[in-house]
Amino acid sequence: MYSRPIEQLIKAFSKLPSVGPRTAERFVFHLLKSGKKDVAEITNALKGLIENIKSCDMCWDFSDTSPCKMCSDPKRDATTLCVVTESQELQQIEKTGAFTGRYHVLRGVIKPGNPESVRFLKVAELLKRLQDKPIKEVILALNPDLPGETTMLYLQNAIKKESPDVNVTRLARGLPMGSDLQYADEITLGSALKHRTQS
Ligand SMILES: [Zn+2]
Repeated sequence: MYSRPIEQLIKAFSKLPSVGPRTAERFVFHLLKSGKKDVAEITNALKGLIENIKSCDMCWDFSDTSPCKMCSDPKRDATTLCVVTESQELQQIEKTGAFTGRYHVLRGVIKPGNPESVRFLKVAELLKRLQDKPIKEVILALNPDLPGETTMLYLQNAIKKESPDVNVTRLARGLPMGSDLQYADEITLGSALKHRTQS
């Protein structure tokens, strides 16, 4: 057993995705050896994250302002909404330069076999946005895997029911089944967006 502060930090790092106890242990000893300046840099960055980042209450992206820059930018097309799972996918789509509309971040997907998981997503907020704003098209840009497909089907039906005039489209089939949009290259993703199909 290490001393308590060391064990505590190992435990905290272990909660991060893809970090097991061995990696967490390596992080802690790296910090211990690297000195106060490096540790202070991380401490300040974490403090800045907690104090300054909030959720945009229009698109649910993380931002230092609400509404975020994208939602308040009059140059962005307010009639087209791109629905993504997480903020990282929003950034990935922005990099393609192929989209000029606005976004909605669901903050997750429906877990197959667990329909209750829909309650944790920003679906009600999306449906409300469609009622309030002049949105003509919703592009479902979720991963082409089982949870993504399950969620897109659910959204398609819900939008059809609540806002039948809204056109629902999805990314073209160029993306391989099971791929992760966060890691898709910009050309493939841009092309899938440009050649989107009727949902
Ligand atoms: Zn926003």
